[in-house]
Amino acid sequence: MRNRGGTPKYAVTEPAADVFFVEGPASNWMILRRGDTFTLIDGGYPGDLPLVLESIRDTGLDPADAAAVLLTHAHVDHAGTAGYFAAAYGQQVLCRGPELPFLLGRDREQVAVAQILLRVWQPSALHWAWHAFAAGGAGRVAVPTAAAWRDDAELAALPGSPMAVPTPGHTPGHTAFYLPAANAVITGDALVTGHALSRRRGPQMLDAMFHTDGDGARRSLGQLGKLEAALLLPGHGPAVRVGVRDAVGTVRSGAGVRKRRIVAPGIIGGGAEPVYGRTAADRADG
Ligand SMILES: [Zn+2]
Repeated sequence: MRNRGGTPKYAVTEPAADVFFVEGPASNWMILRRGDTFTLIDGGYPGDLPLVLESIRDTGLDPADAAAVLLTHAHVDHAGTAGYFAAAYGQQVLCRGPELPFLLGRDREQVAVAQILLRVWQPSALHWAWHAFAAGGAGRVAVPTAAAWRDDAELAALPGSPMAVPTPGHTPGHTAFYLPAANAVITGDALVTGHALSRRRGPQMLDAMFHTDGDGARRSLGQLGKLEAALLLPGHGPAVRVGVRDAVGTVRSGAGVRKRRIVAPGIIGGGAEPVYGRTAADRADG
């Protein structure tokens, strides 16, 4: 499926029946269709809104007909358009309990763009940062009507019948979603297959600087490895038809395809773990 506008800013594919995977400019979102309604999972940066709406129409659906917007986590490159669906159509925006304070805008869990640029110095990083700023990445997420889902049954009743797989670490309430009918797993940022700031292709973890709790993120990888899913739908990078257990094994063995990576030397403590999570600047405005 092609963009109606002709500009290759996003790509929609249907890797399983009624499961649409949208690869956006910097992050991915998914549309789970059931008849003329759907569940939207994640939704890009605030500035990606026209693309999100267009991608929904590409699948023959109307944005006003979302049954709910589910979020893997509240980072602005995933939750950036959720507020629009709540405000424009009164649709429910749902996340797992521990993520709710961030989605409500009461707390903030976001590594600063400038901080990332200092750490990763390469042309693709500049391109990524440009998109992040232009698309509202420096803004904050606040969806005042957001809620935590009550139980598994509430999720199972939604189009796509997603099953929550708690995967804390990247953020406190990060959640992957298993889709039984498609035997697929939406992994958010717990397991990705590429990123503008990564020099690897294929299944991988995001750089440690993106995680609130790196050890937790590694433990959550183990939770994903217990799933039998054969289709990986990540928050960044392309969809991959691979056994998720094998993908996790690949990540753990470090056998991914390594590309060359240039890290600016000496700027942040000579290779020590950078500060992540809340920064002084974040606290100043929150
Ligand atoms: Zn994230």
